[in-house]
Amino acid sequence: MLESFYPIIGQIVVYLFAILLVATIIIAILVVYSFKTEAFPFPNVMLSGILFLEGSIKAFFRLLNVDDSIADNVVIQLKNKISLKQFENLPFNKKAIFLPQCLRSIDCPAKLSPEGIQCINCGQCDIGGAKKILEGMGYMVFIVPGSSFIKRMVRKYKPEAILGVGCVPEVKGGLDLCHRFGVPAIGLVLDRDGCVSTSLNWDAFCDLTKADITRLSRS
Ligand code: SF4
Repeated sequence: MLESFYPIIGQIVVYLFAILLVATIIIAILVVYSFKTEAFPFPNVMLSGILFLEGSIKAFFRLLNVDDSIADNVVIQLKNKISLKQFENLPFNKKAIFLPQCLRSIDCPAKLSPEGIQCINCGQCDIGGAKKILEGMGYMVFIVPGSSFIKRMVRKYKPEAILGVGCVPEVKGGLDLCHRFGVPAIGLVLDRDGCVSTSLNWDAFCDLTKADITRLSRS
């Protein structure tokens, strides 16, 4: 009796595999298209598709010798696109900005505290001037010493939206974390990542924060 179902089960498995394969190829093509053009058709559908098929999309890219981190990049841009309006519509003093410690000068004299790295605006990197301007606008600004720090500060200060800066895995993880907290968040990926002396596109940062770039570059 049970044996008569085996061919049907086999067919269902083959059909499911074929559907997943086709969906993987279509979404992978959309990821490449979005990465190259910065156009995001059906962002919500595409984001759900990438998250659902992330493993197979990345495996497909690796099979074709394509850098699979572009899938993470597109996920970040899609999440940004979905949360940007909410982020922009909130007053500055309801929003928190998390900057990575690797953006500091290698000779940074700032000390670590329970509230993160305490910048003294020594002038050796752009963080000091940026932090001063952003805090003047009302933002909560933190220099992140480690991964558990963001969770602690979100619980303590309860920002209503977050901008996080970091490398691709950090930003992607941070956006997931904010999603779990129900806080709209956008992420900005470093231009050059690494453990020290990283660099950021401050123009893009100022676009997002509405900070005055002229004042920032003079600080
Ligand atoms: S400006 Fe602040 S973060 Fe940058 S090196 Fe000086 S103390 Fe460190």
